[in-house]
Amino acid sequence: MAKFALRCTGCEATYDPPRLHCDHCNGLLRSEYGNTAFRPTDRSDLFAFQDWIPASMPSDVPLGTAILESEALADEMGLQRLSIAFSGYAPKLGAENPTGSFKDFEAIPTMLYYREHGIESLVLASAGNTARAFAYAATQLDFPVIIVVPERALERLWIPCAPTPAVRLVVLDGCDDYAEAIRVAGLISESLEIPNEGGARNVARRDGMSTGILEYARRHQGLPAHYFQAIGSGTGAIATWEASMRLVQAGVGTQPPQLHLSQNAPFAPIHEAWTLGMPIDPNAHVAEQLRKIEQIDALVLANRTPPFGIPGGVRDALSATDGLTYAITNAEAREAGRRFQRTEGLAIGPAASVATAALFKAVETGTVQSSDAIMLHITGNDRAQVDTDCVKHRAQPVWRISPEQATADAILAAKDRLLPNR
Ligand SMILES: *Cc1c(COP(=O)(O)O)cnc(C)c1O
Ligand SMILES: [Zn+2]
Repeated sequence: MAKFALRCTGCEATYDPPRLHCDHCNGLLRSEYGNTAFRPTDRSDLFAFQDWIPASMPSDVPLGTAILESEALADEMGLQRLSIAFSGYAPKLGAENPTGSFKDFEAIPTMLYYREHGIESLVLASAGNTARAFAYAATQLDFPVIIVVPERALERLWIPCAPTPAVRLVVLDGCDDYAEAIRVAGLISESLEIPNEGGARNVARRDGMSTGILEYARRHQGLPAHYFQAIGSGTGAIATWEASMRLVQAGVGTQPPQLHLSQNAPFAPIHEAWTLGMPIDPNAHVAEQLRKIEQIDALVLANRTPPFGIPGGVRDALSATDGLTYAITNAEAREAGRRFQRTEGLAIGPAASVATAALFKAVETGTVQSSDAIMLHITGNDRAQVDTDCVKHRAQPVWRISPEQATADAILAAKDRLLPNR
């Protein structure tokens, strides 16, 4: 029997992996695993949850979430059961995710999954941490990936190992818009017939990210009442909701946690859409959206095209869990990051600071009670990691082009540069 099937969250149609789209509707496809019992192995990394991730073979890249029972931050907040789920890089905590964020949980499982299905190269767009994680994974697994990034993201795009020619970096000159990178990546995929990695539609990404809550469940034999995470696409939140439903079905916990999802004001499209009950239109007032993106500290949260309204997307996850959203200013996030560092002795990145600030807010407003079991997901400490002693390597772009000039014809003409010589 196959390890899992894909079921459309919109219309229930089922498919064989590695599909990304339903033939009948716009719903996300969700994995349904043959093994419904929660039986982690004794591995210390995320491959302990191999029954519930699409890849069948593990990798030896150290990946996973460390669950810490907070004392100092919990005291400061007046909480009794605060678990910090740390998915960055801090060897002293037992977390060694190589690019310092939970994007590592997406990249390696994605490549293993596609490789197991006979796909040997991918295209993707990224504005930051996704590019770093996929560049690292491409190098480790010798799996060619065309990574399209806006020029503005280039500065942050280093990895802790020398990249091999498997990393095919395409830079959009003069561009700071992730949505443009998504468009060009789509065009490359079509023109050169290389599969698009799929973003939120890719179950290897979602199920890889879902291992944070699985690690919590392994530790606590249950689910938290509340889950706090900073979001850009919200994929990690969808993943957490999906894995929680699998856990409940397996008899672990009684209901999925309430989702508390935070964004960095003034760019908070999911927060606005959820609180106002409006759809998200990525193409409305683009200049204003870009102006807002320029103002935020947590650039990894700047996604104009999140999977919000589609079946199985962020709106459904929020509805099903009676969820809440937060818009956190830079000042609030910085203050929360300082308090985290002072109490827990750990520098966290701007995105994790946004999630921490949301938890401070929820405590202040009485949204969470002091005895509630709470999981605060520290999704990365990417910027703090820059201060460590690791050697930073950069991939050289194989192609630089302005977004206006990146047409199908130009892509076909650049084909030999885009693909590695084999
Ligand atoms: C990508 C990223 C997020 C947002 O994740 P989504 O669930 O995809 O919205 C949060 N924190 C860090 C550190 C990230 O890299
Ligand atoms: Zn469907």
